[in-house]
Amino acid sequence: MTTRTTQRDDELSLSAPRGTPLYVHLPFCEAKCHYCDFYSVPAEGQNVAGTLDAIEHEIRERAPEHPRTVFVGGGTPSLLGIDQLKRLFGTLERRSGFSSSAREVTVECNPESLNAEKVRCLADLGVTRLSIGFQSLRAETLELFGRVHSVAQSFRAYEAARSVGHLQVNLDLIYAIPGQALSDWQADLERILALGPDHLSAYNLTFEEDTLFRRWLEQGRVRALNDEAELEFFQWTRARLRRAGLPAYEVSNFASNGLFCAHNVNYWHNGEYLGVGPSAVSKIRGRRFGNLKPLGEYRRRMAEGSSAEAWHEAPGPWARLGETWWLGLRLSEGLRADEAWTRAGIPDWSDAADPALEIARRMGDGGWLECTEGTWRLTDRGWPLADAVAREFLRLKDHVPSAAPKALPRGLS
Ligand code: SF4
Repeated sequence: MTTRTTQRDDELSLSAPRGTPLYVHLPFCEAKCHYCDFYSVPAEGQNVAGTLDAIEHEIRERAPEHPRTVFVGGGTPSLLGIDQLKRLFGTLERRSGFSSSAREVTVECNPESLNAEKVRCLADLGVTRLSIGFQSLRAETLELFGRVHSVAQSFRAYEAARSVGHLQVNLDLIYAIPGQALSDWQADLERILALGPDHLSAYNLTFEEDTLFRRWLEQGRVRALNDEAELEFFQWTRARLRRAGLPAYEVSNFASNGLFCAHNVNYWHNGEYLGVGPSAVSKIRGRRFGNLKPLGEYRRRMAEGSSAEAWHEAPGPWARLGETWWLGLRLSEGLRADEAWTRAGIPDWSDAADPALEIARRMGDGGWLECTEGTWRLTDRGWPLADAVAREFLRLKDHVPSAAPKALPRGLS
C-alpha cells in the first residue's frame, strides 16, 4: 500500500538528516553502451557546463551535512575535466563538509577518461575509492557492448588508479555474454586477479528493457546463454573468487579484506540516502522520491529555484518490510526477522505477527533459504536464484494483517 503525502512531507523531502549517505548523478558518457539502462546520454552536443551548474545548485540546496558516504556515479564522472571536478568537489565540501565525515568517497570511472593526473586530483579532493568499468578483456566484446575504450586503456587506467597507494579500486565486469565460452571468462578472470583489485563487481549480463541489446535479442541478432550455462558461470565465479581471497558479500559483489562498498551496503540494508542530479532517487524519512530526467527541464527548475522532484511515494509498513527482505537477502551476512522490522521502521517485532517469516519458512522448506541462530541466508542452491527468491518477499506489499501493528513512528505510517 502506498499512501498519499502531505505538503509538510514534501518540505521535509528537500533536506536530509545529518550523516545521510549522498549520491551525485552525472548523466554524461562518451557514448551509450548497448546494454545500459542507466540514465545517461553521450556528452557531445549537450550543455555539460550548464548541467553541472544545475547539479551544484541542487547540492547547495539539498546535500546533507557530514554524509557518512559519498558516491559520485552516472554516467561517467571521470569524463569531467580537472577544473570541473575541482569545482564540483569544492561545492560538495563547502555544503556538506564530507571530507571530515565520509568513511568512503567513490567515483565511477571509465578507462578512456582516467589517467594518473586525474587520479591524483581525485585523491587530493578527498576521493577514497575508484570504480572502473572494465566490463570485458576482449576487443570484440567491447565492440559488441559499444564501449569506446580498448583493453590496453583498461590496464593503463588500473595502473593510474594504483599510482596513489591508499585508493581502493573496484573493477566492473560482465560475464555470460552471447558467444562467450566459460574457458574465455576463466582466462579473463585470471588476468584480472593478477592485477590484485580490492573489489570486483561481476554481473551476469542482463537484457534490460529499452536497450539496444534487448532489441537485438528480440530480433534474434544476439542469443542469450541458456540457464545451465549461466549457472555454471555464476558458480565457478563465486568459487574462484572465494579461493582468490575475494569472497562474495553480495550476489554480484566480491571484496578482499572486508573492503565492501559501504555506500551500496547501506542500500542493501534499506537505509536512507539522498540523491542529487537528473534522475537521482532519494529515500528520506520513509518516503522515496526521484528527480526528473530531461536535462533541459532539470536545468530550468534549478535556475528558477524550484524542486527537481518528478515523483514520490510513501510505501506502507508491509511494503517496506518486503523491500527490506528483498534487499537484505542479497547480502551474504543475511538478515534477522526482528532486524528487518527495525530497518523497515516497524516497532515491536513478534514472531507471530511477522508475515515475512511465513515466506522465509516456505523458502526454507524448498531449500532456497536457511536459518542459523535467527539469521536467514540464501543456501548454495538459493544463491543462483537470489533475484527470484528475494522477489517473493515483495508480495508483502499486499499483506493485510489480522491485527494492525502497534503505532508506527511518526511520519512513517
Ligand atoms: S559508460 Fe556506464 S553509464 Fe555510460 S552508457 Fe556505458 S554502462 Fe552506461
